Amino acid sequence: MRTRFVLGEEEIPTHWYNVLADMDPPPPPLDPRTGQPVGPEALAPLFPMALIQQEVSLERFIPIPDEVREVYKLWRPTPLHRAWRLERALDTPARIYYKYEGVSPAGSHKPNTAVAQAYYNKIEGVKRLTTETGAGQWGSALAMACSFFGLQLKVYMVKVSYYQKPYRRVLMETWGAQVVPSPSPDTAAGRRVLAEDPDSPGSLGIAISEAVEDAATRDDTKYSLGSVLNHVLLHQTVVGLEAMKQMEMSGDYPDVVIGCVGGGSNYAGLALPFVRDRLTGKVKTRFIAVEPEACPSITRGQYAYDFGDTAATTPLIKMHTLGHLFIPPSIHAGGLRYHGMAPIISKLVEDGVMEARAYHQTKVFEAAVTFARAEGIVPAPESAHAVRAAIDEALAAKEAGERRVILFNLSGHGLLDLAAYDQYLTGKLEDYSYPAERVQEALAHIPKVVG
Ligand SMILES: *Cc1c(COP(=O)(O)O)cnc(C)c1O
Repeated sequence: MRTRFVLGEEEIPTHWYNVLADMDPPPPPLDPRTGQPVGPEALAPLFPMALIQQEVSLERFIPIPDEVREVYKLWRPTPLHRAWRLERALDTPARIYYKYEGVSPAGSHKPNTAVAQAYYNKIEGVKRLTTETGAGQWGSALAMACSFFGLQLKVYMVKVSYYQKPYRRVLMETWGAQVVPSPSPDTAAGRRVLAEDPDSPGSLGIAISEAVEDAATRDDTKYSLGSVLNHVLLHQTVVGLEAMKQMEMSGDYPDVVIGCVGGGSNYAGLALPFVRDRLTGKVKTRFIAVEPEACPSITRGQYAYDFGDTAATTPLIKMHTLGHLFIPPSIHAGGLRYHGMAPIISKLVEDGVMEARAYHQTKVFEAAVTFARAEGIVPAPESAHAVRAAIDEALAAKEAGERRVILFNLSGHGLLDLAAYDQYLTGKLEDYSYPAERVQEALAHIPKVVG
């Protein structure tokens, strides 16, 4: 019985897979002042040209630079596991596989894009990057990548996580980054929020406004985003490309592919190479994106043009959104607290290729503990949403007497999230009900755009 499917270093993919070559692409980002599509020059103050080109590219396969593959070798290829022990614990005929991205030095999938982004900024002469981070996984991934390529980094960290998760701040500082809690007094966007609510817990939307403002107002600085954008999802496809080879080694093909979604990047990374098989009619695989009930962008949001940040400074993006002013409750899966969703994921949901479901956090931690006791790995609270859905699919297969093949992305480990586990284990973890009124209010502020 094979438990781990392992590839050699030479099997790290040589190209990223660009799903835009195979799907009906999402509508373009719009300039909020004119309602017209934004050209590449509008993004040039924020991103290096190579990434802007990848954002709009229709090439199916995009080469991975050797310098980036060299860094990937520190932890890639990542293992694919067959979860025999979990299958037995659930007494299910389903076969459960998971791709484990927690083996990266930062503990999640995020370095897959952080390394690529730091590299392209470096070769275009950028000296300093800014970014936002929720739970701290993105900030730490980018801090590590910047240290490899000799770039400075300033991280605006969502305030609630800054205090709930001090170890991630220390990790970022160990890799050489400067970290401030957001909203901060360092930017006009931060000062505006603080003036209205000095106790604001912050949100990814606010932190993005701060990081974008910092980058846009300095010549030596660019901005880096850890999810949502097409080029970020592109870089993450190394996950799914490896997983395809590993599933081949197992002799199975997934009937259902599952992942948690904050902005959508880890799930897209695993799913998109398999989505290609579905789009070309080769398979009927189902795709399930899993989100928190407290921040249910796909399941309860609108598919509309909205801003990516709270201060309404980004281009308008067509996506599932709860409204750019929505500030989600402070759930432990900090990485899933974003009001919007990647345009590619949103479009695939609209096209009927992907489906979505939402869970409360106590049900999510219950699944995480079941998983940890069977497989050993303690999942990140974000990843535990995928674990919950995978377990439910396995239980449904048992009910139906089906040998369903389930594949999910275990996007990171939870060893820096043990305070959340402590709360769950001592019965102190609360479920936030779906904040219907706050969502209604935020949705009322989505800009009116035809399209
Ligand atoms: C950031 C993060 C997520 C959510 O971000 P996506 O872009 O949706 O992948 C999920 N899991 C982990 C471990 C993360 O760090």
